Amino acid sequence: MALEKLGKALNSALKKLARSKTVDEATIKEVVRDIQRALIQADVNVRLVLQLTKTIEKRALEEEPPAGASKKEHIIQIVYEELTKFLGKEAKPLEIKEKPTVLLTVGIQGSGKTTSVAKLARHLQKRGYKVGVVCSDTWRPGAYYQLKQLLEPYGIEVSGDPEEKDAVKLAYKGVEYFRGKDVDVIIVDSAGRHKEESGLIEEMKQISQAIKPHEVILVIDGTIGQQAYNQALAFKEATPIGSIIVTKLDGSAKGGGALSAVAATGAPIKFIGVGERIDDLEAFDPKRFVSRLLG
Ligand code: GDP
Repeated sequence: MALEKLGKALNSALKKLARSKTVDEATIKEVVRDIQRALIQADVNVRLVLQLTKTIEKRALEEEPPAGASKKEHIIQIVYEELTKFLGKEAKPLEIKEKPTVLLTVGIQGSGKTTSVAKLARHLQKRGYKVGVVCSDTWRPGAYYQLKQLLEPYGIEVSGDPEEKDAVKLAYKGVEYFRGKDVDVIIVDSAGRHKEESGLIEEMKQISQAIKPHEVILVIDGTIGQQAYNQALAFKEATPIGSIIVTKLDGSAKGGGALSAVAATGAPIKFIGVGERIDDLEAFDPKRFVSRLLG
């Protein structure tokens, strides 16, 4: 992962702490400054960084370690806890409750939406669900063939019609088709042609009204870093049933910025994309993520 750089920088801050002879105020402040620098380099919003590191510093200076733990261990625990909270605290897994559960994915072209739909379909199939995928992208006829190519080897059916120009009709027809097919999950991929979030969200609303999805999933490109905040916020305001996939975290030094920006909106990140292959999707769990980041 390209977040390795952030992980390394955070680690070296904590190692400095581990190596220091005494843990006084100056040591704590130095460690906090190193953490600040590491996060800012990963494109985390400066205001968020200051809030986070202020909390870490305050806790590190004021709290007594619990019985059996050293001051150093306790500070490391504080950093771990605060970073986890910073990324959303608890894992919020995707729930498949009803049969069929209908999921609608939206996202700006190039964000990795189509790839993510295929990855998600495969992820659910591996967990025993029968999945149908609907392509309602009327802007990019290639999306339908892309999905078929990615999913047919796994026996996952894709519904679509590259000739049809009405996205709402395509989505509706596809969902109806799979309702008759005894699938557990229907994933609808929508167009991402709008450069403006408003157009994207308007189409999302129309498709949403037609197919009544259980959940709308926004796909955000992790390489945009902290700009992900506005995208996630616009989306969250438009729909009460949102969750987010942040993609391309393997290729971007700004991944920390994107993840923390999305988490700051309160929209749950449920998956992260960590590569171009169909299996490169991970369920997002802040605790596990931070443990791995800190090694
Ligand atoms: P869409 O226009 O949003 O549907 O985007 P696509 O799904 O076609 O993806 C755009 C490009 O991003 C493709 O080259 C994908 O292989 C690539 N991509 C998608 N997700 C990831 C990811 O998690 N990591 C990497 N490295 N590339 C990705």
